[in-house]
Amino acid sequence: MQAAVVPAIHGKWEVKEVPMPHPATNQVLIKIHASGLCYTDVHITEGLLPSATFPRTIGHEPVGEIVEVGDGVTKRKIGDRVGVPWVQASCGRCEWCQRGKPMFCAQQTATGINTPGSHAEYMVAFTDATTLLPNEISYEQAAPVFCAGYTVWSGLRHERIAVLGIGGLGHLVCIIANLCNIFQCTCVRFRK
Ligand SMILES: [Zn+2]
Ligand SMILES: [Zn+2]
Repeated sequence: MQAAVVPAIHGKWEVKEVPMPHPATNQVLIKIHASGLCYTDVHITEGLLPSATFPRTIGHEPVGEIVEVGDGVTKRKIGDRVGVPWVQASCGRCEWCQRGKPMFCAQQTATGINTPGSHAEYMVAFTDATTLLPNEISYEQAAPVFCAGYTVWSGLRHERIAVLGIGGLGHLVCIIANLCNIFQCTCVRFRK
């Protein structure tokens, strides 16, 4: 299959042929239909995330269709439309995991950071990390929800929020806040 591979820190992305992955126990194989670009892709390429080793296929906003299931998979089936977030699994034992914050776990399995990511034709993911997509949402609309979208949704759990800058995340928080219809949204833009 083809994938966008970062050969080394500061390396130029290369679209190249890589081996086709297959799901292990409790994993699924997803045919990627959309893979959001995130500025964290640049941070990874620049070597700012120490857990990422190279060469690596990056991409952590994956959505697509399940085309193969591994042993033990009962919650998903071939043909399901799914997305996968950044954190697929964590140790379950450290202080952060026990506080219910696996995103800070040092032993986490992170999509496209210490696993092959979604800027590729196919990607393997842990079944329990996948989320079923409603039929009404297109793959292109769903992809950025799996990083930028849930990042800003996390902020919306608080009573009052400030949006500083209307970029990739800032515009999503305005859309989601307005759809929820329970927030008064004030957007701030700074001039240099
Ligand atoms: Zn991201
Ligand atoms: Zn942990």
